[in-house]
Amino acid sequence: MTNELQSLFKRLEKGNPFGEKVTLVAATKTRTPEEIDGAIAAGVTDIGENKVQEFCEKFDLVHGARRHFIGRLQRNKVKYLIGKTFLIQSVDRDGLAEEIARLSQKAGIASDILIQINIGREASKGGYDPSEGTAAFERLSAMEGLRVKGFMAMLPDTGDETVLVPLCEQMRALFERARDASCDVEYLSMGMSGDWELCIEHGSNMVRLGTAIFGKRPLPRG
Ligand SMILES: *Cc1c(COP(=O)(O)O)cnc(C)c1O
Repeated sequence: MTNELQSLFKRLEKGNPFGEKVTLVAATKTRTPEEIDGAIAAGVTDIGENKVQEFCEKFDLVHGARRHFIGRLQRNKVKYLIGKTFLIQSVDRDGLAEEIARLSQKAGIASDILIQINIGREASKGGYDPSEGTAAFERLSAMEGLRVKGFMAMLPDTGDETVLVPLCEQMRALFERARDASCDVEYLSMGMSGDWELCIEHGSNMVRLGTAIFGKRPLPRG
């Protein structure tokens, strides 16, 4: 794993063509605390889980990384995350944002979040419609208890660059409009193991990688 990580870090160190540093978030679903600690020892600074239960189970067993939540989040589970995350990346509806804001205020903190955009308008994926991105940004930015740090998106699962590049460019434009409006905005989280190089080339500054770091995930049981 270490060799792959070293070449990954080398590429990420160059940043994106916009002169920004690129943050690597290791997507740690199905990985054991030992595997995750190994990645941290090799230089990983940020880790992300996509299920609340796994996030909580591993929280005390893994040490020395910033924690991200990157999956579908139910309102009734927000309470398990408050105060424990560096970023909740997958805020995909107003009701969820309101609950994070409410519980954050109650805890006397502001939670940093990203707004998830369903950039490919896919039924299987969560997120605001791209046409609603700017309005959602304005509404969520006005909520006390939230700090909107940018956007997250997952590209459609296709190798066709003529489809992917324009979607990256739309996300970058949305990100830059928001950044012009608020100095809180820093992150465009876009790119997984199959498409991260293209995403960085077209404006992402945060990638979420699982298999590229840890190898293939075990197949789900059953
Ligand atoms: C699992 C996951 C990733 C990483 O996927 P890989 O293809 O293994 O790199 C990225 N983002 C989210 C939201 C995930 O759940």
